[in-house]
Amino acid sequence: MAPVSDSRPLQITALAGGVGGARFLRGLLAHLRSAEDPARRDARVTVVVNTADDVTLHGLRISPDLDSVMYTLGGGIDEARGWGRAQESYGVAGELAAHGEGPSWFTLGDKDIATHVIRTRMLAEGATLSEVTARLCERWQPGARLLPMTDDRVETHVDLADGPGGATRRVHFQEWWVRLHAAVPAVRIEAVGAAASRPAPGVLEALREADVVVLPPSNPVVSIGTVLQVPGIRDALVAAPAPVVGVSPVVAGAPVRGMADACLSAIGVPTTAAAVAGLYDDFLDGWLIAEEDEPPRRPGLVVRRRPLLMSSPRATADLAGAALDLALELDRKEPAA
Ligand code: GDP
Ligand code: CA
Repeated sequence: MAPVSDSRPLQITALAGGVGGARFLRGLLAHLRSAEDPARRDARVTVVVNTADDVTLHGLRISPDLDSVMYTLGGGIDEARGWGRAQESYGVAGELAAHGEGPSWFTLGDKDIATHVIRTRMLAEGATLSEVTARLCERWQPGARLLPMTDDRVETHVDLADGPGGATRRVHFQEWWVRLHAAVPAVRIEAVGAAASRPAPGVLEALREADVVVLPPSNPVVSIGTVLQVPGIRDALVAAPAPVVGVSPVVAGAPVRGMADACLSAIGVPTTAAAVAGLYDDFLDGWLIAEEDEPPRRPGLVVRRRPLLMSSPRATADLAGAALDLALELDRKEPAA
C-alpha cells in the first residue's frame, strides 16, 4: 500500500446500498471537498453498489440502490423520501392503474421512468449494467465512480411463512419490503444468482488498490450482505491492504430507518451494533458505534463512539470524516511495507 501521509490523493472505496449508503456518501464527498489536507480534498471515491434489489416491473429494469446513490450524489433526489426524483409527477403510474396494470405498491414517477427506459433499452441492446450506469452518470455527475457489484443478474428473494397451511411462499425482496413493509416474518432471504455472479469490472481492483475501504451504515443483510455474496468480493476485502472501517446502521439497538431488524432476525442475528460488526469479523478493522450501544469485543477491532445520526448535511459530513480519521489512524499503525 502506498503511504497516505504524502499528498497523493486518497483512493477511497465504499460498498453501499440505497438510502443509508447514499446519504453517507454525500456526507463523505462534502467532507472531502472541504478538507484542508490535499490528500483528502483530491480523494477519488469508488462506490460498489448493491444490485440485488433490482426488479423488473412493466418490462422496465429498475436498480433502486444505484439510482438512490446516483440521484443523491447528483442532486436529483427527493430529499424527504431519500429515494426517487425531486419534483416528481405520476402521470404514467396513473395511466397504468387506469389500465388495471399493477403492481400499485411500487412507486414509479415519470422522471424516474426515463432512467429505467434508458437502462432497459441499453440492456436489451447488449450493454452491461456497468455501461448503463456509466451512461446515466454522464448526466448526474455524482462526483464518485459508481460500480454495480456485478453485471450479472442477482435478485434477493424472500420466503414468507404466511402461505396456505403455514406453507412458505417466495416473493421478490421488493414485494416483502415495499408492499408488506417486512411485517410478515421472513424465514429465509436468498440472493438468487449471487453464487454464480462475477464482480463487475473494476470492483476487485477498487478494493485491492484502495487506501481506505468504508462501509456506510447500509443494511447489513440485503445491501452490504448481498454485495459480499458476489464471489471474490469478500476475499478481496479480507486481502485488502487498506484498513476497512464501518459505520453501524444500528443505533440504540434499532435500525435508524427502515426494517433492517426484520432482515437480521431472518438470519438469526440480534439487532445490535456489536452483532452487525460480527457479520464483518473477517475483514473489519474499525467500527463506529453510537454512545448508547455496547461495543463488539473482538481483539484487534478498534471501536469509536461517535454521533451516528445523519440528521443534517453537517452531521453526516462529520460522521464520514470520523470514519476516515479512524481509517487513517489504523493505517499508520500498520508496520511499514
Ligand atoms: P436502502 O437500500 O435504501 O435500504 O439503504 P441502505 O441499505 O444503504 O441503508 C439502510 C440502512 O441505513 C438502514 O438499515 C438504517 O439503519 C441505516 N440508516 C439510515 N439512516 C441512518 C442514520 O442517520 N445513521 C445511521 N447510523 N444509520 C442510518
Ligand atoms: Ca436497497
